[in-house]
Amino acid sequence: MYRGIGACDGIVIAKAFVLKKEDAVFAARSVLSAEEEVKRYNNAVKKFVEDTTVLAAQVEKNAGVEQASIIEAHAIMANDPDVKDSVLAEIKDNMATAEAAVVNAFTSVIAMFSAMPDEYMRERAHDLADIKARILEILTGKKRHSIEDISQECIIIARDMTPSETGRINKTVIKGVITEIGGITGHMAIMAKAMELPTVLGMEGMLKNVQTGDTIALDGSTGEVIINPTEADLARYKNLASEYDIYKKELEVYKNRQSITLDGVHVEIAANIGGTEDLEAVIKNNADGIGLFRTEFLFMGRDSLPNEDTQFEVYKKVTEAMGDKPVIIRTLDIGGDKDVPYLDMKKEENPFLGYRAIRLCLGNKEMFSIQLRALLRASRYGNIKIMLPMISTVTELRQAKAIIFELKTELEKEGKPFNKDIQIGIMIETPASCLIADILAKEADFFSIGTNDLTQYTMAVDRGNEKVQYLYSTYEPAVMRSIYNVIKSAKKAGIMVGMCGESAGDVNMIPFLLACGLDEFSMSAQSILRAKKEICNLSKQELEKQIDVILNMSSREDIYNYCNRQR
Ligand code: PEP
Ligand code: MG
Repeated sequence: MYRGIGACDGIVIAKAFVLKKEDAVFAARSVLSAEEEVKRYNNAVKKFVEDTTVLAAQVEKNAGVEQASIIEAHAIMANDPDVKDSVLAEIKDNMATAEAAVVNAFTSVIAMFSAMPDEYMRERAHDLADIKARILEILTGKKRHSIEDISQECIIIARDMTPSETGRINKTVIKGVITEIGGITGHMAIMAKAMELPTVLGMEGMLKNVQTGDTIALDGSTGEVIINPTEADLARYKNLASEYDIYKKELEVYKNRQSITLDGVHVEIAANIGGTEDLEAVIKNNADGIGLFRTEFLFMGRDSLPNEDTQFEVYKKVTEAMGDKPVIIRTLDIGGDKDVPYLDMKKEENPFLGYRAIRLCLGNKEMFSIQLRALLRASRYGNIKIMLPMISTVTELRQAKAIIFELKTELEKEGKPFNKDIQIGIMIETPASCLIADILAKEADFFSIGTNDLTQYTMAVDRGNEKVQYLYSTYEPAVMRSIYNVIKSAKKAGIMVGMCGESAGDVNMIPFLLACGLDEFSMSAQSILRAKKEICNLSKQELEKQIDVILNMSSREDIYNYCNRQR
């Protein structure tokens, strides 16, 4: 039995399909015309961009808009002037064939990215390897071992899976995925969750131990994998699978139930979305609203800013789909690990501490105003609330509110209707905002705690750097105390307090959050029913007794074990 990182729930027993992914081979030959090779290369990139558009549409259908934007970004990366220049230099200076030039140029760029200290930049090496292999396929006309060729039910075993491969997975034949590398914050994990595909990552050595045709038993929630299970293992897994099916069916009951605790406390279970394509799952799981619309995905994977009308249509569509339920739309949160190439953002030494989110928006008033006008105009179609990311000072909140005030006056003059009482809330994701939560609560209409960043900034630990992952946990006493204090400040001021970081959907964390008085839990649509079941079977009053116990614990392990045991 092996254990990796369980990235998406589900029990599967199926035959292994070992996906070997050597790049296309090509014969060495001498080059007669560099010009001809440049033309071949340019045509291959053109075809690559065309194929990528088709692929992105397919990925959008399978996995949602957030994942499609990852693929769309490949088209931009393939046209990156630095990459292009080094391929052309290989052809012109070394008289290399287009194939050899691609291999040489990409290999050095990939090596450069792989050696970067920042996890996010290292992830880009996988994207570049994917682009290199696909351009080589076009140049040579030879396809790699491809997941499209798989026609029998199987579990894929691979070194890793690129975003483009994951998005092309046909779930009727591919029942699960196991990779040797990859972590819980990588693209594969996010895509697997969105596609509800049982997945185990980080199983180093798997390719050596498994042959195509071996039987594999996989448990995506615990990360357990058994190669060629015994009769007893199979019986256990069949049991687990039927228990899992029953559990999924039981969850269906919660679709039409309100999230009310045993002692009658009502909370909201909302959804996090990245675009309109995620709405189907939101409606299917009957979310109480949208707790976080990450609008940056509207800005990524394209080559210019979306204009006011384009944004307006998207916000209108989302709010209309939700009827009178609340729709919290977060203003642009780029910078940090989210790049928008056409904005020409300067490279920074410390991007997570740099020019991101509200800082970048306040510095680009025109771009910010376009988004805010679109939001205000869409607000007449439903219950939109505006949320500002990364607030650290009251001044930032006041400046943003002043801009919104100006825009309201402008729209009024133009005779364009909007909700005059639109709520303006903030994300609490910096230690500064936690420490002045009582002050911010007097001027913000609501809070939403972003535990993904709050954990990163409180623990001073890069959320994408695996070397320091041992410090990255929301169960750290410092983070738990911050959460408690923020909720208390919001309650005292009488404003709504929600959470849209990953912890809101963590069933071990929910009892503590409920006890503290969190009003709204926002999570991926797939986690909603599980969270609802949890809430409906808890008593807030009973849990309140545990708050002091938890807040007085000295280590993350103690807190986690306690929270885990209480369920
Ligand atoms: C967070 O930081 O918890 C959050 C929800 O925002 P993001 O993950 O988009 O940074
Ligand atoms: Mg954040």
